[in-house]
Amino acid sequence: MSEIRYCKICRKIFQYVTGPVYCHACMKVDEEEFEKVRAFLRDFPGANVREVTENTGVSPNKISRWLKEDRLEVSESSPIALNCENCGVRIRSGRFCLDCSKSLARDMMIAGKELKESLNKTSSSKRDTGFGKDDFGLYYKHREEKD
Ligand SMILES: [Zn+2]
Ligand SMILES: [Zn+2]
Repeated sequence: MSEIRYCKICRKIFQYVTGPVYCHACMKVDEEEFEKVRAFLRDFPGANVREVTENTGVSPNKISRWLKEDRLEVSESSPIALNCENCGVRIRSGRFCLDCSKSLARDMMIAGKELKESLNKTSSSKRDTGFGKDDFGLYYKHREEKD
């Protein structure tokens, strides 16, 4: 199952299958850089972002993006700190601490339920075809989450 998506890095369109939304070329560069940073942090778990950047040539933006995407995790003692975007508590990866992600998930579920209920009121059930419309006006089948 694949769909047409914009590459998050170079904005080109490509056949998206799974994983991060990067095209083939960007994915390759990204993986090489990610591997470099991961290896460096394994050898030097106490390194800060500046040291990682100087030694791997990978931009701090990318490093923080990987942390937010939950791909890269730093050690407990690492000076590379991330803070929960909701309560500011120190976290090792992702965007929110465990407590906040739990309550956010709950809020989202409630919001989603309310949205669904209001949609059901305004439009009839004809939208429920299992097909979505993308930016190009093309219809595609929604990707199955579980297989
Ligand atoms: Zn790309
Ligand atoms: Zn939090």
